[in-house]
Amino acid sequence: MTSDSIQIYIEKAEKLQKEYKYEKSLEIAQAALQNAKYNNDDKSLGLIYNIIAKNYEINEDDTKARGNYRKALTYAKSSKSKTLETDLYNNLARVFTKHNLTRKTGVDYYKQSYQYAVSLKDTARMIRPLLNLGEYYISRSDFDSAFEYLDPARKLIQDKSSNLDKTKLNGLLGKYFLNIREYETAEEHIDQAITYSLGETKNKKNADELVSTYFELLASSYETKSTLYKKQNDYQKAYNYQKRQFQNIIRARDLKKLKELRRANIKYEVDLLEKRAEKAESQKEESDDEVAKWRIIIILGIILILISLAFLISSYKNNIQKKRLNSDLIENNKELISAKETAEQVSTLKSQFISTVSHELRTPLYGVIGLTSLLMENPEGKKKNEYLESLKFSGDYLLALINDVLQLSKIETNEVRLEKVSFDIRTLIEGIVNSLHTKQKSNNNTVHIDIDKKINTTLLGDSVRLSQILINLIGNSLKFTKDGNIWVSVKHLDGDNDNYLLRFTVKDDGIGIPKNKQQTIFDNFAQVKNENQEYEGTGLGLAIVKKLIHLHNSEIKIKSQEGKGSEFYFDLSYEKAVKQETISLQKGENISIGTSNFNVLIVDDNKINQIVTKNILKKKGYTCDIASNGMDAITMLKNEKFDLVLMDINMPEMNGLEATKVIRTFNTHIPVIALTAVEEGEIRNQALSVGMNDVIIKPYDTQQFFQTIMRNISKVKMV
Ligand code: ADP
Repeated sequence: MTSDSIQIYIEKAEKLQKEYKYEKSLEIAQAALQNAKYNNDDKSLGLIYNIIAKNYEINEDDTKARGNYRKALTYAKSSKSKTLETDLYNNLARVFTKHNLTRKTGVDYYKQSYQYAVSLKDTARMIRPLLNLGEYYISRSDFDSAFEYLDPARKLIQDKSSNLDKTKLNGLLGKYFLNIREYETAEEHIDQAITYSLGETKNKKNADELVSTYFELLASSYETKSTLYKKQNDYQKAYNYQKRQFQNIIRARDLKKLKELRRANIKYEVDLLEKRAEKAESQKEESDDEVAKWRIIIILGIILILISLAFLISSYKNNIQKKRLNSDLIENNKELISAKETAEQVSTLKSQFISTVSHELRTPLYGVIGLTSLLMENPEGKKKNEYLESLKFSGDYLLALINDVLQLSKIETNEVRLEKVSFDIRTLIEGIVNSLHTKQKSNNNTVHIDIDKKINTTLLGDSVRLSQILINLIGNSLKFTKDGNIWVSVKHLDGDNDNYLLRFTVKDDGIGIPKNKQQTIFDNFAQVKNENQEYEGTGLGLAIVKKLIHLHNSEIKIKSQEGKGSEFYFDLSYEKAVKQETISLQKGENISIGTSNFNVLIVDDNKINQIVTKNILKKKGYTCDIASNGMDAITMLKNEKFDLVLMDINMPEMNGLEATKVIRTFNTHIPVIALTAVEEGEIRNQALSVGMNDVIIKPYDTQQFFQTIMRNISKVKMV
């Protein structure tokens, strides 16, 4: 046999392999092998061992496949055939990555194959190992590594690339983007993969094996799509795509079954021909012939019946399996939907529960704190002051705890949305430091504020959340530092015409935090145990700070050394707003109207609350009258002159909102302020919409209480 005819044999064996005629392909490869060995034709030997190895690989005999690929590689190297070497590294890698012990070598082989293809400038051969590596890492859920290979593959794949490569690439990219939660991009890729594979399953030119591969790819795409919808809580769609996934798995398997049956038929035909030839050759008697003929016919009949029976049984089993899959799916879907409903119920119940309980707790607390404050100021009660202070401390602590729990629950149920208001960073920080510092005088600390001069306009962003973050951090520094310093600084890191990126730092030279506690202090209720000192606090402050900073897509960082001090810092970006010089004047906060001899109507059904509010007002020189419900309030307002109304919301018979609506029909100018224990976010809009002017949440800070009252009275007096 010459080299040329060896080549023809090789091509024939390759063709037979593609047609899944493995035994014939092996037969021809073996024949070519003898001749190539005889001629010392290394290149052909490489090609032949490649074919032999692939046949073994397809028939899942990986040990033999590996041995033959290796032999092929030796010949490819000695004949210096780079293309064959490139293919062989890819093939070897495929077998090696299948098994845990050899997968690392497999990955190296893929990389080798890619490098060779690059040196050959062979794009199609470059794409193959890249896609295989992408698929390998996706199957191991290592999405970052997968993208390292899928990205260059994406750049290499062009219009003229094979549809199989395009389908695989899009399917894998779909999985990648799904996992990094870019759902829209993921869906675009999956849909591309579905379009390609659907087209190819209908392409008549494709061999059964290829069509079966496309059905498998289609099933995989539907699976990704189902997961995508599950992640977005669209369980109905997720269920539909899962159904399609199973349909296509069955289609792929049916095709393979058909192919196996056809293979059996081919073998049967070959046997038949051989038998006929034998019959013609033998010069046996006619009667013998007849017997043989009948025997063959009977055997053939039996074989045919057996094959048909096997096919019937397999279809029947398939059907049963389909039904089982279907009922599994329905069960699955039911479970998913009921799990979703339970989760939703639990979540709403939880927030309703927290909101109700906090309201119920805040109302009596108002009484406890208010009465305690009043008693503390009463000179006759001086002796009992120690107990009263403890009582007030417990009350304040309980209130802080309730507020923190409520805040955390809101963040966790995604109820906190960032607002955009304009604010002045200096005023905000100075305000926070002033209010905290007066409370913390006992620790004798000096607070230094340093705000970058480059920040020369007002900012646009959520000033309330920023205040909450800073109050917690500065409050902690003041608490955990004695006779020391606190530095609060805002640095300008970066910015353009519209935005500032700012670094906020709160630093102290207090007791510091041990290294092993520096991460856990951000957990709910985490406090560092300290035997010598007792600090007030709920252990929720830093958990809230961390979550609020997360809401701004940023992170809080900490540097601290025990005994030396702590530093907390984080970066936030804010839009620039137009500077409003006159903000405080517009709000009327600084307006003094000289006297506080005003007449206030307190509307509240709770006797203790009536006493607390009345006494607080009386001490400032206000005169007060009390109405126990909405009806009485309306009558009193019609008959007497008042400067302001403090209106409770939850009252029997006629609540505060309804009463205000009626009041506004005959008195449009009197300031009506809601005085309520309901959470502010829940009530403010409702209160303003019925004509109330402001909201004060019980229990309140007395200073703020009077500020709000003055602001509202002064607005009316100035008109
Ligand atoms: P707490 O209400 O107890 O202050 P936080 O969540 O704000 O709760 O803080 C958790 C714990 O972290 C504190 O109890 C304290 O042990 C530690 N910690 C926080 N800030 C500081 C600081 N500036 N210096 C020292 N320890 C601190």
